Amino acid sequence: MKTAFSIHIRGVVQGVGFRPFVYRLARAHSLAGWVINAEAGVELHVEGTEEELQAFVRELESKPPPAAQITSLDVQVEEPEGLSEFTIRESLRRDRPTVRISSDLPVCEACLAELFNPGDRRYLYPYINCTNCGPRYTVILGLPYDRPFTTMKRWPFDEYCAAEYHAPANRRFHAQPVACPACGPHYELRLDAETVRGDQTSVRMTAELLVAGKIVAVKGLGGYHLACDARNSGAVLALRERKYRKEKPFALMVKDLEVARELVHLSPEAQQVLTSVARPIVLAPAQVELPGVAPDCDELGVMLPYTPLHHLLFAAGAPHALVMTSANRSSEPICYEDEDALDRLAGLADAFLVGERPIARRVDDSVVRALPAGPVILRRARGYAPGAVATLPARRPVLAVGADLKNSITLVVDGQAFVSQHVGDLDHYEAFAAFKETIQDFVTMYSVRWDDLLVAYDAHPEYASSQYALGLPAAEKLAIQHHRAHVASVLAEIGQFEKEVLGVSFDGTGYGDDGAIWGGEIFLGSVARGFERVAHLRSAALAGGDAAARHPVQAAAGFLAQVSDAYGLPDLAAPPFGFPVRFRHASELVRKNVRTFTTTSVGRLFDAAAALLGFTREVTFEGQAAMWLEHLARSAPTVEPYPFPFTDGELDFRPLLFAVAADRLRGRDEREIARAFQLGVAQGVAGAAISLSHARRVGAVVLSGGVFQNALLLGDLSALLDGTGIEVLANHMVPPNDGGISLGQAALAAYRAAGSNERNAAYTATSRFTI
Ligand SMILES: [Zn+2]
Ligand SMILES: [Zn+2]
Repeated sequence: MKTAFSIHIRGVVQGVGFRPFVYRLARAHSLAGWVINAEAGVELHVEGTEEELQAFVRELESKPPPAAQITSLDVQVEEPEGLSEFTIRESLRRDRPTVRISSDLPVCEACLAELFNPGDRRYLYPYINCTNCGPRYTVILGLPYDRPFTTMKRWPFDEYCAAEYHAPANRRFHAQPVACPACGPHYELRLDAETVRGDQTSVRMTAELLVAGKIVAVKGLGGYHLACDARNSGAVLALRERKYRKEKPFALMVKDLEVARELVHLSPEAQQVLTSVARPIVLAPAQVELPGVAPDCDELGVMLPYTPLHHLLFAAGAPHALVMTSANRSSEPICYEDEDALDRLAGLADAFLVGERPIARRVDDSVVRALPAGPVILRRARGYAPGAVATLPARRPVLAVGADLKNSITLVVDGQAFVSQHVGDLDHYEAFAAFKETIQDFVTMYSVRWDDLLVAYDAHPEYASSQYALGLPAAEKLAIQHHRAHVASVLAEIGQFEKEVLGVSFDGTGYGDDGAIWGGEIFLGSVARGFERVAHLRSAALAGGDAAARHPVQAAAGFLAQVSDAYGLPDLAAPPFGFPVRFRHASELVRKNVRTFTTTSVGRLFDAAAALLGFTREVTFEGQAAMWLEHLARSAPTVEPYPFPFTDGELDFRPLLFAVAADRLRGRDEREIARAFQLGVAQGVAGAAISLSHARRVGAVVLSGGVFQNALLLGDLSALLDGTGIEVLANHMVPPNDGGISLGQAALAAYRAAGSNERNAAYTATSRFTI
């Protein structure tokens, strides 16, 4: 007896070879029916015997294509229509798309084999791809994901590609960006005096230029890279000078896993992340010294080639380890449009390897550190964006605009929270423009109506993102306090909105309820109930406010004034401290209480400790002094922690910093001092968490905020809390730094919005499987 199933699948199911997969599977089970890409995912209708249909559904669920992610699969039994074959129907375009857009995928093994097979039509063709690999998010102009809505619309198929595209058994069946050398886009190399055309010639010449120590701007998936030989210190230093990037580490692209292992120590976890479909930059302990690549840093950031072009460059003889840094000046957003790149990078690059396929939007490389407790994403972009990271109980759309540093935005549509790629620091004009574009892009892509929209923004009145949010024509707007958003981001990732936790939110800066600069806060509560501040770092004066973040000695002044009052301190201008005159000026401001702000920032506490240990110069990138201190501590033997007592809801930094100063004066090894400081911080926080969890009967502690990018601190703290019965929760899907703020804002806003209770009651989670 024949019956029929109507199946509705949600998740990452478009642009990942899902319909061809369904087609082949249906044929294999001798089922009739059809499959279609709809805005809400993939819909299919299948007819056959009950037994065949059940087997089909089981395989659909258990063996989807590698890049697909099924979040829900709903089956309804229907009357059969008496169909005789299985077909793929044209896409529908209805009201609001809720389908998940796939992130970009690295070139697959099958395409790589063809790429280097002289007999293949796409031999050495840099735009080879199939349904299992290639660009997605960076070519999509609109939904549904179909060729006319991609940046490939300019290149009609030739007969060969058309035949593959339409052949259901083919790996390129409905692969939207499919192309071949005869019908697709090409690369060319632009030099000062001439333009070299031809994929193979331009790739070969690029490899030669790199070998010769030149800097080449290379167009990739989500933007341009500046590439040079990582082992050529002259080239690396030239790149630093031209890019105005003094010390911030450069990322590397290596030929293969073997070269990666020569450069860094790869734990099994790190290797897994490195080779994952996201192909991020992975931070791992350095095995070699590459002068100029990552000064004062014991880690290197490495990634594997992910586009066919990258593989072609290495095959053509490019150096096996290349610096591959986002093409921009200083910390501007990455260049992704050809004319803009040629203009902005003039003088930076010696040559430009330009590909014709336009990039729909800029997407940087992601940065991940693999820890035993799981990966920590430090920059979330290519390979991850714009994936949904959480399901929120919000029936109405929510737009959360994030914070001003390391900005990302989150759009919640039908309860799915889509987090954008890393946008950047909004004090740069270009980044602010990118921020506005990203908001427009998301709102348009998901056809959200402004008069429907709830907008969440940071409570900082002077943030550019907050001011922009206030000007948006949205239905409702809510300010969300920065550090509560950090805590909520962790709970949103795991969908625990009612869970009562202690939220430890440590970072460099954020606007507090009282207008002070917060950054060392402990909260109690849940996303649903809200978070009450129950403890914090002892406050200190901060001379010059947020500007002090650039000068550790300036940040140190207010903290050390209190240490001096309590215990006495030697002259810090004298050796071994040698504080520059800026410290004396800042100390005077603190004493006279002029141009000072109150802070509880743990980021600034780390700056103060770094200053006492010798980091007395200006930082050249955010968090540099704390990173320097962490790396110093890593190479130290086991030490006793310095005291960091917790009393009356306050963590007292005075004995902690005094111990650092006293040991430095005594001539103790700086690495040991750094280690004792780090361990002291961990022990103080663990003590506070244990005492508060007993007093308040809470069994879980959340650790979030930029300070927890410090892997040593995170590790120490987890070890100290291990065995206490307290569950430790941290970020894994979004960064612990401000890149994760927008997700936390969205979660808190969804609960705080007026009337949200009735709306939330109507919400039911989508079922994983119903039959
Ligand atoms: Zn492929
Ligand atoms: Zn073709």
